[in-house]
Amino acid sequence: MIHYISVILPIPLQKLFTYKITVAEASFLKKGMRVAVEFGKSKIYTALVYRIHTEAPVGYEAKDIYQILDEIPIVNETQITHWEWIANYYMCSLGEVFRAALPSAFLLESETAILLQQGFNDEKSLTNEEFLVFEALQHQPQLSIHQVIQILDKKKVFPIIKQLIEKKVIVVKEQIYEQYKPKLVKYIQLTKEWEAADKLSELLNELGRAKKQRDVILTYFQLKAQKKPIKASELQEQSNGSTAVIKSLIDKHILSYYYIQKDRITFNGKSSEIKELTIHQQKAFEAIESTFKTKQVALLKGVTSSGKTEIYVKLIKQLLENNKQVLFLLPEIALTTQLIERLQHYFGEYLSVFHSKYSMNERVEVWNNVLESKAKAQLILGARSSLFLPFSNLGLIIVDEEHEPSFKQYDPAPRYHARDAAIVLAHQHKAKVILGSATPSIESYYNATQQKYGLVTLDRRYGDVLLPEIELVDIKEKYRKKRMTGHFSDRLLEMISEALNEKEQVILFQNRRGFAPVVECETCGVSPQCPQCDVSLTFHSFRKELRCHYCGYRQTMPHNCGACGSEKLNTKGFGTEQIELELHQLFPDANIGRMDLDTTRGKYGYQKILGQFQAQEIDILVGTQMLSKGLDFANVSLVGIMNADTMLNFPDFRAHERSYQLMVQVAGRAGRANKRGKVAIQTFNPYHQILQQVSTNAYAEMYKEQLDERWQYHYPPFYRIIKITLRHKDFNRVEEGAHWLGKSLTGIFKEQVLGPTTPAISKIRNYYIRHIIVKIPQNQHLELTKKNIIRVKNAFQAIKEFRSIKLNIDVDNY
Ligand code: ADP
Ligand code: ZN
Ligand code: ZN
Repeated sequence: MIHYISVILPIPLQKLFTYKITVAEASFLKKGMRVAVEFGKSKIYTALVYRIHTEAPVGYEAKDIYQILDEIPIVNETQITHWEWIANYYMCSLGEVFRAALPSAFLLESETAILLQQGFNDEKSLTNEEFLVFEALQHQPQLSIHQVIQILDKKKVFPIIKQLIEKKVIVVKEQIYEQYKPKLVKYIQLTKEWEAADKLSELLNELGRAKKQRDVILTYFQLKAQKKPIKASELQEQSNGSTAVIKSLIDKHILSYYYIQKDRITFNGKSSEIKELTIHQQKAFEAIESTFKTKQVALLKGVTSSGKTEIYVKLIKQLLENNKQVLFLLPEIALTTQLIERLQHYFGEYLSVFHSKYSMNERVEVWNNVLESKAKAQLILGARSSLFLPFSNLGLIIVDEEHEPSFKQYDPAPRYHARDAAIVLAHQHKAKVILGSATPSIESYYNATQQKYGLVTLDRRYGDVLLPEIELVDIKEKYRKKRMTGHFSDRLLEMISEALNEKEQVILFQNRRGFAPVVECETCGVSPQCPQCDVSLTFHSFRKELRCHYCGYRQTMPHNCGACGSEKLNTKGFGTEQIELELHQLFPDANIGRMDLDTTRGKYGYQKILGQFQAQEIDILVGTQMLSKGLDFANVSLVGIMNADTMLNFPDFRAHERSYQLMVQVAGRAGRANKRGKVAIQTFNPYHQILQQVSTNAYAEMYKEQLDERWQYHYPPFYRIIKITLRHKDFNRVEEGAHWLGKSLTGIFKEQVLGPTTPAISKIRNYYIRHIIVKIPQNQHLELTKKNIIRVKNAFQAIKEFRSIKLNIDVDNY
């Protein structure tokens, strides 16, 4: 009898693929092990065993597998079931989920891999195609040639790769099944001969006048008294010796090296006792426990600084004591050292962190620890991808800041929402879920009101500190009365001065980076546009450059208008850079910091600025929404929102909800310790209902109004949204394709189809974009609807002219 396996390949094709195996292989292989197989024209992929059987494939001859890569399964059954749900729900292939789920070190291919060269920062010198590769490498640790071909949409990519190597942008590595290498630490010990007791004086005699060597030995004995392994580096440092001195002791067979495998993420400190909950926190805690008796999900709506984290901590403790695994999910940006350290204090030896800033090897390590159910990986703190770890015994998932849009993955597929996928995962493990937020998403709050989730509220801040006092500053009025200096109203300036006089810190929020988003000719009204995207270029004054925030295009700021030659170029609008410059003039004695994408590029850029702010080396911190998450600064008494209107006017059905959340979260940074904070919101439209609701902390009112609108205009939670995006470099092609697709979908779904529409930014990186939205009412069969959409998609892709159009499907688009 011939044996076969069906495997998942990490590619966008829907089906499984069958390979031939020997009898011995058949008895060894198990579902969830990796094998290397050949696919396509002599390409080798890492595939995952899905099923072992004796059914020959239909339509092609099964090839032999290339190699078995694991001794035991590295993926468990529950995971695969979860992936299947994701693939099915978010309309992508199981292979795409497989690719997203595993750390890339587990997915090596026999192809050349390219990696980013550390230290390269001259993006300006890159051509378009080079930039695309460079940019892709910002999002993933390495690219195969194959991926480069996909990204650039052309076959001959070797010249570009060669250029990139010459420009020192990338390095190339031939990686054929490179095994994961644990990190080894070098320790040092006395050799057997000298190990026996009381040999110290003899040893020192032996060394005679070699003073430096004697110092090393004396230090060695000092360190040895601490009764723990002595690191070579530690010995060298403590004894002020050089490598050469130590080496001579090794050569004399007095000392010898040995190695211990070290886990990269170590914790050396004692765990502290958890905090005693206040009466209100205790009540919330008990309410969560009683919710869990009947419901799987509890929504914890607790105002900023109410101590939600302390409540999580108490729950986590209980679960760890019961030997359950816990997953603590956070948006990437909220995974700050501050929070990690705080949790490490409580759960040090049980906590592992998993996120994209960590290297491939570190991620493999966490994966393996979870796989082996090791104690040190019992609590995982991570961003959305930690959902894919091989949990076997999950008891609780906490989704903190559950309203955060960044829980949704936009690109590439799977375009999943980590909160929703977490609830499904928890269900499989019979685990519980807490969704925590000061400003819950409309969807989650709706689910709570429908009794689908339990609702627990916590309206008091810890220590009964009052929520900040929010003042709306009417800048239309201020401009009219000439009370503006630059972009600051007299009122905001007054508040900043007060705070600075009291030696308190200030946060200023402006959700736009650069100096000004638009440059405009005063004479003819023309603005410089990005040559590749349908947007105006942002002026960055520090480098006197115009930049595109969508594709990275840059050019030096021109002296004349490109259209009429006039020298009168003005800027319109403002970003963080301009605010920073104005502040330097307005408060020359204050230390001013800026936190946005431009100042936090390096690996530690973000932490550095936060560290300075924490140490009060910065008095006023200007920043984008990076400022709003997970930060807790005791000395901040004032938060200023420079301009609320751009957020509110964003063309998206969630814009109002988002603005509310963002402003409340930013405001929550004020006065967290023991003093009521102040918030000033500058706006042209102080009577806007959202601003009124923010200033009175009227979540319920905001919710009700938004819900009414969602009902009226057919949006979530009443309708599901599937968004289809078409992209092509040829305007007419995408136009035709979108038209065809829109018409076909309308044929089935009638008025539930919206579009094709041209998005506000209709072209990015030379690709013209069209959207089609399908709105699905709650009572409509979702499976069937998706099947129909896929049928139309397949028909679309069977048309020769449309085959080159890039088509994405995004379910529950956010
Ligand atoms: P949230 O997560 O709701 O924003 P935190 O858990 O960060 O709130 O709490 C805000 C601050 O109050 C933190 O510095 C925290 O240590 C402190 N805190 C909260 N609850 C307690 C408590 N029960 N005992 C002592 N300190 C507390
Ligand atoms: Zn002009
Ligand atoms: Zn651009």
